[in-house]
Amino acid sequence: MSLPVIGITGRPDRSARPPSLSLFAIGQPYVRAVELGGGAPVVVPPYVEETRLRAIFEHLDGLILSGGGDISPVFYGEENDGLLWLVDERRDRTEILLARWALADKLPLLAICRGIQVLNVAAGGTLVQDIPTQVTNAVSHSSPVAGRPVPKVAHTVEVTAGSRLAALVGAGELDVNSAHHQAVKTVGAGLSTTARATDGIIEGMEAPDHPFCVGVQWHPEVMAESYPEVRRLFEGLVEAAQSK
Ligand code: MN
Repeated sequence: MSLPVIGITGRPDRSARPPSLSLFAIGQPYVRAVELGGGAPVVVPPYVEETRLRAIFEHLDGLILSGGGDISPVFYGEENDGLLWLVDERRDRTEILLARWALADKLPLLAICRGIQVLNVAAGGTLVQDIPTQVTNAVSHSSPVAGRPVPKVAHTVEVTAGSRLAALVGAGELDVNSAHHQAVKTVGAGLSTTARATDGIIEGMEAPDHPFCVGVQWHPEVMAESYPEVRRLFEGLVEAAQSK
């Protein structure tokens, strides 16, 4: 059996100097997590013309929508509240297209952090633009050690029994890391909520009529090496990609 090829969406890297030498990037933990899950990772460029993007998509056995900056509210029909971070409409367009194709064509999909928000917007849902200022009594959704990819717990979530997410990581209380200031507000068509933080913030979603469409608001890729139960998300993606 050949190794399933898992696309990971890349991001623009603004650190290039001069900017004419602009870069695309991907966090190495995403690549490592796909390897640990049993797949062959490939990075999908965030800026690529649509017919070429489609050609890439058709070679994939599975897809990871990766983390990053905020999605432009243009894509969910709301005004900019002025609290947005790193908006990039070109990347948004690319990832929303990929998410819609993955939903329509039943391509196995794991949506991480920003990715769960992309998935939701692609399905017609909306987002909370800034949790700290717009959600009362929210827990801290920032990782406790600023500036580091913290592999350990920021808060707990309650995973819904009977969901695909529960089949992977177990139902009930789960410790997760957290590095987001936005979240799913209204849930998009065909998606269901599979995990919530204690403040009610949606932390997991999936498409029940899809073979594997799982979204999480935390960052399992940085925990996959040390935590076998977290690695299950990537193994599950790769298993679904294998039987695609
Ligand atoms: Mn969180």
